[in-house]
Amino acid sequence: METDVAIALDLGGTQVRAALVRDGRVLARAAARTDLGGPEAVMRQFRALVAGIAPAGTPPPGAVGMCAPGPLDTVSGIVDHIPTLPGWDGFALRDHLSDTFGLPAVVENDGIAAAFGEWTHGAGRDLHHLVYVTVSTGIGGGVVVDGRLMHGARGMGGHVGHFTLAAEGPVCSCGRIGCFEAFAAGTAFGRRARAAADRDPASHLGRIAARETVEARHAVEGARAGDPACLALVAEEAAYLGSGFASLLHLYSPQMIVMGGGVSKAFDLLEPGIRARIERDAMPPFRAVPVRPAALADDAGLVGVAALARAATARTPRPPSRGS
Ligand SMILES: [Zn+2]
Repeated sequence: METDVAIALDLGGTQVRAALVRDGRVLARAAARTDLGGPEAVMRQFRALVAGIAPAGTPPPGAVGMCAPGPLDTVSGIVDHIPTLPGWDGFALRDHLSDTFGLPAVVENDGIAAAFGEWTHGAGRDLHHLVYVTVSTGIGGGVVVDGRLMHGARGMGGHVGHFTLAAEGPVCSCGRIGCFEAFAAGTAFGRRARAAADRDPASHLGRIAARETVEARHAVEGARAGDPACLALVAEEAAYLGSGFASLLHLYSPQMIVMGGGVSKAFDLLEPGIRARIERDAMPPFRAVPVRPAALADDAGLVGVAALARAATARTPRPPSRGS
C-alpha cells in the first residue's frame, strides 16, 4: 500500500529509537536502551517499539528506514563492522528490516541520514550544496553536492570526522591519530575541561571536579557565567571546529555548513571563535560561507531516513524479494 508515512529507526550504541514520520514531521516516537544481546534481540526491540507507537487514525506506513553508526555498507545492506555494536558483523540488516515489517526498507549511515533530514526539512532547505556536521561524542555528518546526497562507493562517503586535522595529536575513536573528531568532538572538549580542572583545583571547574566528573557542558555553563578559564576552553573548542570546517569548505564548497549534535547547544558561544578561525584558515573565496545551527536537533536522522525510505519506495513500490 502506498502511504506517505514511514517508520524511522535509529540504531545507536546506547539507545534505539523508533518513530512514525510523515513529511518531515515526527507523529509518534519511542526509545529504549540498546539490547546488547545482538541483532536478533534488537530487531525484537524495534518491533515492540513500533507496535507501541501507532496513533489512532494514522495511515499504515509504506516504508521503513534505519540509520546506524558507520561505516555502514548501504549498497549491500549488510553490516560489515560497527565498533559500538559488537555481534552485528555480517548481519543482513536491510533484508531483516524488510522481513520484520513487511515493507520496503533502506539502511543509511546516521550522519548521511541526518544531513538528508536537515537538507529536506531543516536548516539547509532550498540549498544545492551543504555540509552537515554533528558534533557530540564523536563527529559525523554528510554532504549534499550539486543537489544530490553524496554516498560514495558502498555508501560510506562523507565521514567528516575522520580527516586528519594534524599529523600528531590525540588518538581518535577510530584508532587513528589526529582526526578532526579527536580534537573537536565533545569527548575531546570534556577531556580538556578535566585537564583544566586538574591544573587548578580552586577554579570553577576544579570545584566541580571535587564532586563529579567534569564534562564539556560544565565548561559551557562556566563560560556562560563568565568564568575566564571556561571561556578559554570554549575558544579552544571553537578554534578546532573552525579549522575543521575550513577544510570542509575547501573540499566541498558548500553554500552552508550546518552544525548539529550536543556541542551545538553552545553554538551561540562557539560561533565567534569558529568564524575567526575560518577567517584565518579558509582561502578568501570560502570565508563568507555561513555556519548555522541545525534545525531538527536529535530528530535529523529519523526525519532523514524516513524521507529516504519514502523516496526509495517511490522508485520500488514493492518489498524486495529475498534471495533474488
Ligand atoms: Zn578518526
